[in-house]
Amino acid sequence: MDNFDLHNHSTRSDGLLSPTQLIELAARAGVDAIALTDHDTTEGLAEAGEAARRLGILWVPGVEISVSWGDTTLHIVGLNIDPEAQAMIAGLKSIRDGRLGRAERVAQMLKSMGIPGALEGALALAPNESVLSRTHFARFLVGAGAVKDTQAAFDKYLAKGKPAYVAHQWATLEDAVEWIVASGGTAVLAHPGRYGLKPWARGEVLDEFKRLGGEAIEVVTGSHRPEEYAMWRDTANRYGFLASRGADYHGPGESPYEPGRLPPLPATLKPVWSKWTH
Ligand code: AMP
Ligand code: MN
Ligand code: MN
Ligand code: MN
Repeated sequence: MDNFDLHNHSTRSDGLLSPTQLIELAARAGVDAIALTDHDTTEGLAEAGEAARRLGILWVPGVEISVSWGDTTLHIVGLNIDPEAQAMIAGLKSIRDGRLGRAERVAQMLKSMGIPGALEGALALAPNESVLSRTHFARFLVGAGAVKDTQAAFDKYLAKGKPAYVAHQWATLEDAVEWIVASGGTAVLAHPGRYGLKPWARGEVLDEFKRLGGEAIEVVTGSHRPEEYAMWRDTANRYGFLASRGADYHGPGESPYEPGRLPPLPATLKPVWSKWTH
């Protein structure tokens, strides 16, 4: 039992597959356990959980919460949460509510750069309008012929520091960990290599996350390059964090690994799933 994939997206946030399609894809890869971790919503969990049970896969209900830490956006994954917990429901709603206003501003920026219709275009690509994401804008920009692929849309327009980036206030790190703990879940720092943090800031994030009740960090993820695994392995061991593994799959052509098809965790790590499997 070690093919656990604990970070994936569906059409309930910025993924391209429905919750059922995602679980079916993971089953074909032979996963032992799967989590759905949509951004700021638990809406897909009931459907995905049903598919996982039908296919005989261990099911891990999850979420990926957007957090503001100074002017850096962090992502905190909650695993084995109870989606009915009131603190989680109210907390996630509070951060989803800011998304439309941010999207209007992104669209204005794009319009001022000669790309009209981005809000309508992104909305048309978002099956769940309450989680309208930069990923939907990226897909709109590809469709409009402004860039060749979604990565280029981030690199040219949407990433931090680029002209259509709009700073936004998400949850605090403290709130996100609190909602996860209050819903019975395990808090995991998602893809720590993705934030472009200087070493001192990295240390501060890890210390603060640990102090607040964070238990694990992702080491093997589709959002890390394989060359980065060793560094995050050593970091997990040094801080005493459990380690997680997840494809961060968004859809065909958009992610380096399909669910369940990424490398195993390095052997010296204690997997986060050791909490649930003995
Ligand atoms: P949002 O929560 O709307 O700001 O969108 C964040 C999502 O955009 C992430 O979960 C990724 O799926 C995607 N994303 C963010 N930054 C990048 C990037 N530099 N390259 C590719 N995708 C990105
Ligand atoms: Mn995403
Ligand atoms: Mn993320
Ligand atoms: Mn993700």
